Amino acid sequence: SAARTFFVGGNYKMNGTLDSTKKLIDILKSAQLDPKAEVVVAPPALHLLLTKELLSGSKIGVSAQNAYHKASGAFTGEISVTQLKDAGIPWVILGHSERRTLFGEKDDDVAEKTKAGLEQGLSVILCVGETLAEREKNESINVVVRQLDAVAKQISDWSKIVVAYEPVWAIGTGKVATAEQAQEVHAAIRKWANDKLGSQAGEALRIIYGGSVAAKNCKELASQPDISGFLVGGASLKPEFVDIVNARL
Ligand code: PEP
Repeated sequence: SAARTFFVGGNYKMNGTLDSTKKLIDILKSAQLDPKAEVVVAPPALHLLLTKELLSGSKIGVSAQNAYHKASGAFTGEISVTQLKDAGIPWVILGHSERRTLFGEKDDDVAEKTKAGLEQGLSVILCVGETLAEREKNESINVVVRQLDAVAKQISDWSKIVVAYEPVWAIGTGKVATAEQAQEVHAAIRKWANDKLGSQAGEALRIIYGGSVAAKNCKELASQPDISGFLVGGASLKPEFVDIVNARL
């Protein structure tokens, strides 16, 4: 696990103004961040270029929250992976549960987007996770394996993918998975990766946890053997994000 660089992403979702985003980035730029942690922030598309500009000269990376797989064309309201590449945005979040549940993205859509993003040389934060009903039916591992298998049908090189395990019942609810619950699913994803991709790629894969991560719960989660970081929603909009980046210090 020491070989896997700790990764913390901040998903701003549909929040912020030009002004509030600038203030947030200023806080991050002046904070003492763990030099061993890789940090990436994902503002709304409208704020990506401003954020990239504000972060120039810093080690913090920038990510989109979604993208469309076609390069260009009659897809009103969409932004393509090709346009992200052109604009110098190196990361994209794909398959976030809000995209899946509110905007109808299916496993195969997420797989297609992942394939297109990798073809453009983007790095991908690929989100998977079960709903509460699925957890109650003991389906958590089956669901994440189904979601990952859909992607593995279309791509074979996982070196530019970070898998975010985000149980839907924990996102934005304040109901964080226990360290044991999260580690159990992360270990299952690790086993899936070792079986499917071979042990070298499997052991190298970063699997991060998302769902109500906060300063008060991040250290115990970060100490689990298969948890290599976090995807943070609500707390990424607060100075508390710095404490989460520094969870391993
Ligand atoms: C997320 O949106 O990816 C997320 C984990 O949100 P929150 O931290 O607010 O639960």
